[in-house]
Amino acid sequence: MIVLKFGGTSVANAERVRESARIATMQPNPRVVVVSAASGVTNLLLEAARAAGSGSTRTSRRAVETIHGIHGQVVDGLGRDDERHRARTEIDRLHAALDDTLAAIARDGELSARHSDRIVSFGEKSMSVLMAATLRDGGTPAAHVFADTIVGTDDRHGGARLDRARTRANAQAVIRPLLDEGRTVVVTGFIGHAPDGATTTLGRGGSDYSATILGAALDADEVQIWTDVPGVLSADPRKVAGARVIPQISYEEAQELAHFGAKVLHPRTIRPAVARGIPVRILSTYEADKPGTVVTREPLGDGIKAVTALTGLLLLTIDVQEIEDLAGAAAGVFSALHSDGAEVAFAAQASSRRRMTYVVDQVTGGCERLRLRIQAVVEEFEADVTCTDEVALIAAVGAGAAGHPATIGRMLDTLGREGIPVLAINQQDANVALVAAVPETQAQAAVLALHRELVEATTPAPVTTQRRRRRGSLLDEPIRVG
Ligand code: ADP
Ligand code: ASP
Ligand code: MG
Repeated sequence: MIVLKFGGTSVANAERVRESARIATMQPNPRVVVVSAASGVTNLLLEAARAAGSGSTRTSRRAVETIHGIHGQVVDGLGRDDERHRARTEIDRLHAALDDTLAAIARDGELSARHSDRIVSFGEKSMSVLMAATLRDGGTPAAHVFADTIVGTDDRHGGARLDRARTRANAQAVIRPLLDEGRTVVVTGFIGHAPDGATTTLGRGGSDYSATILGAALDADEVQIWTDVPGVLSADPRKVAGARVIPQISYEEAQELAHFGAKVLHPRTIRPAVARGIPVRILSTYEADKPGTVVTREPLGDGIKAVTALTGLLLLTIDVQEIEDLAGAAAGVFSALHSDGAEVAFAAQASSRRRMTYVVDQVTGGCERLRLRIQAVVEEFEADVTCTDEVALIAAVGAGAAGHPATIGRMLDTLGREGIPVLAINQQDANVALVAAVPETQAQAAVLALHRELVEATTPAPVTTQRRRRRGSLLDEPIRVG
């Protein structure tokens, strides 16, 4: 059984939906198709919801009209009258439910996280209807399923955590029988349901994660992530013109890349696949014949494979007076960060200086609030707390190399030559990523320099100059989210 996931650009309009449907039907049955909202729709839904909450009815209406246009164009592209009518009825029903939710937000005068999740779910729900209709239009039996009846989560709206057992039971009960009837089952990415039944979301870009969640729940043989780049590349091709496709990468390496900012995979995507040893393949809907990248258990090769950057972070340092206080202060800091819901992306400790360094996600109130909060927590240790914002983590990823002392030397040399200050560095023997914190303004220069030194200088040139040029031209496009 194959799970194929199509991202926003791959279902951006009628033509792209048809191409993705064609790609799906080239895979043997049984198959599950996971869809994102059409490109831009999630952002428009959020805009509509925020505007409704602040009483800007006109802005909200305008965003909704744009969404109607995008979905309407896919409906109009359906060839068979019966499918067109059926899709129109289902899409109208979803749009009406969207209007009802926007009206409820307007009445509340504010946008709750619960309402926000319900609103954004209409993007994926509409696309699942449209993709199933497109498949049937082309002669393939298909049914759509909304994942807020399948994927069980907790109630952390906006970034819910998975309930694996509940999800597996639902998937086996609802999706399996449809597959057994020979139908292609189209499932919404990104969404799930809390224990009280409310719709939740898995975090922005979460449809990749949905694909591996469903792959694991249905014991898939392979999960395919179809997107707008021909695989996992050695760097974001929008930022590094010389980035090249990595044919094979290990779960651990992919996990590190995703964690440190490679948007091609949602950070949680790999976990469900690892648990069941399911290969994950990343492929392009624009170049469907290319082999892409396969992610499996085993690493291949021993160099640095990719360089990535995670931006928008805060760097927190805590200096304690006495070395014996390190553990107590660290316990206080972690507990405060945990209860504030802040993710620690990086932690380092230099015991000779009695200093701890943490790089954390942006938190409400930024550095100013975080410094005061942590200062209060470690007050009894007479600790000095500093906080720097606009920090980035740069990761050089490759199982064979990252744990090697020589690599850290080359990394620091390269950054030093470029005049890029290193705020902190993290290397451990068995690590598959070598990570440095740098000022965010220097992140792009750091990625370019490290890619040149650690990837381009050590591996053969990419396949064709033509493909490089195409990627180079992508550099001019704005970064797209949702
Ligand atoms: P989708 O809508 O299909 O989920 P995304 O925009 O979320 O697609 O992810 C694909 C994008 O990820 C690419 O267009 C590319 O700019 C970006 N990206 C960042 N880092 C990498 C990388 N190392 N390899 C490939 N793509 C990357
Ligand atoms: N549509 C959602 C988003 O824009 C989920 C996804 O694209 O994976 O974040
Ligand atoms: Mg994505």
